Amino acid sequence: MPGKNDVINSDGKKYQKRILNDYLSNLYEKFKADHPYVEISFSTFCKFQPTYIHVTSVLSRNICLCNKHQSFAMKLQCLRSLGVKISPNPENIVKSITEADMKNMLSEITKENIEYEEWQTVVESERKRLRVVRVRKTKVEFEEIMITEYSDFIKHTDRVKDQFKALRDLKENLPAGHVIIQMDFDENFVCQAVDEIQSAYFNSTGVTIHPVVAYHKDDKGIIQHKSLVFVSDIGQHKATAVLTIINKLIPELQKLFPDVNMVHYWTDSPSSQYRNRFIFDAVKRHEELFGVAARWNYFECGHGKGPCDGIGGTAKRQVAEAVKQGKTQIQDAHDFFSWAVQNQKSIQYIFYSQSEYDKMVESISSLKLKPVPGTMKLHAICNRNNT
Ligand SMILES: [Zn+2]
Repeated sequence: MPGKNDVINSDGKKYQKRILNDYLSNLYEKFKADHPYVEISFSTFCKFQPTYIHVTSVLSRNICLCNKHQSFAMKLQCLRSLGVKISPNPENIVKSITEADMKNMLSEITKENIEYEEWQTVVESERKRLRVVRVRKTKVEFEEIMITEYSDFIKHTDRVKDQFKALRDLKENLPAGHVIIQMDFDENFVCQAVDEIQSAYFNSTGVTIHPVVAYHKDDKGIIQHKSLVFVSDIGQHKATAVLTIINKLIPELQKLFPDVNMVHYWTDSPSSQYRNRFIFDAVKRHEELFGVAARWNYFECGHGKGPCDGIGGTAKRQVAEAVKQGKTQIQDAHDFFSWAVQNQKSIQYIFYSQSEYDKMVESISSLKLKPVPGTMKLHAICNRNNT
């Protein structure tokens, strides 16, 4: 919570109040996937929730991590406002309401016209933005939409659970020489002056932060992890940036784990970053381009944050605190990188520059790969994505 007064005292320390933006049952599945050797029941997991972290019964309109969860939660709110006795939590619906129950509940509605809120892409000042808008439908239309969305939502939650189970199984049975990579772009760190006089001299600059967590099994067969954060002044977060990161990541993995011969990527599925033909082509040619074979696995859109979120948040918070206390000034990505390398020893920081990014595009162009039927040449991919 953003206010200075949104603070709670716990264990003699002050903590900023925070709101959970995912359901505890989802977080429990994520925790089990991240820590496959920890035996913990759901109720015990919930007891460890810190006092300064609050749950919301329904996702706030300011948070849109997963469209499907958000959209379904908004329709449940609408049903409740129409007098239907139903839980506002979409996860409870999955556990307790059948399609027949849902149809019965919808038949209770007496209003002929129904208004509800949903996220839509709208054009504002010639830019596309996601906004909550009010939608009006007839009762019959609303019933059809609700039944379709209920069925889609059940499939969505099943896929989320299956994906976390698959990741957990892979961690438990990870063969020697295989490495799992979970990664995601974090929100940019915004460089700000500590006082107004300074702010007159430089603009707020965004620093790209891309956390990576690498998992492998040690000599005793125990899974270990290494946290890395890629920092850059390149604002572009598309496939070309991802390939530049991979080009620097693989040599680091080879240093950390000399026997690496297979990389299993696990990421969220935004089409502009990880789930596009550029990345598909790179995975197909991964061994040829980067020297190690690879598989790429996707989480349901909005469910792939995992451990990367925590690492990125920690990195940015500590830098922001140092700026606030006047210990340092961070005016660009280079300043961020230098400070983090000096002060956050538990995380390995790697910088990628504009020239490295450009070189990546050039070096792939110079490979002069023969066109493969059904796929695109990678240099064409990068050049196109770069424009
Ligand atoms: Zn979801």
